[in-house]
Amino acid sequence: MSIEIKTVRCGDIMENAYLVALEGRDDCALIDPGDDAAKLKRALGDRRLSAMLLTHGHFDHILGAGALTEATGAPLYVAEADAEMLNDPALNGLESLIGGSDMPGPRLAARVYDEEVSVAGMAFEVIPTPGHSKGSVCLYLPDEGVLFSGDTLFRAGFGRMDLYGGSPMQMRDSLKRLFTLPPETRVYPGHGEPTTIGEERSRYRL
Ligand SMILES: [Zn+2]
Repeated sequence: MSIEIKTVRCGDIMENAYLVALEGRDDCALIDPGDDAAKLKRALGDRRLSAMLLTHGHFDHILGAGALTEATGAPLYVAEADAEMLNDPALNGLESLIGGSDMPGPRLAARVYDEEVSVAGMAFEVIPTPGHSKGSVCLYLPDEGVLFSGDTLFRAGFGRMDLYGGSPMQMRDSLKRLFTLPPETRVYPGHGEPTTIGEERSRYRL
């Protein structure tokens, strides 16, 4: 079965949310519900939202989560190390990056990832990639050759390391880990355009 990936660009920071579904199924996963719940709901259409998967706990990737949980009941998943950020503007960047002191909407409750999470017929491998935040992960569909890289790996760049929980040493190790994936792997980042592992790997000497 082939996979459908719909990119929904959200909010002032233009974060990418991705609706991911197997063709022919009526359910789907949503990677990083950014700051435009109305747009995300429209993008869902008739599809049932089975779960929301976070690549990390920064505010721009989670601001749509509360409204979507209320509308759909879909659970939200995060890595354990970033769970503390979800409801804390001082940790999730809302305060330092845009001066917000209150998270809008309902308090977020999240489940913590295991090594794999199965949603809508797809088994996502959860690859820990700390560096941008302590609990940053990339979500990998090996059979499809698709990686959702959050703010760890971008087209021609990688995530900043100066925010809460960031670490240049860990970022280096995380990028090295990602560059062991097959070069043809398609990479869907948290901001900007898609790329491939091979294209990005060729830019660095790690
Ligand atoms: Zn981020």
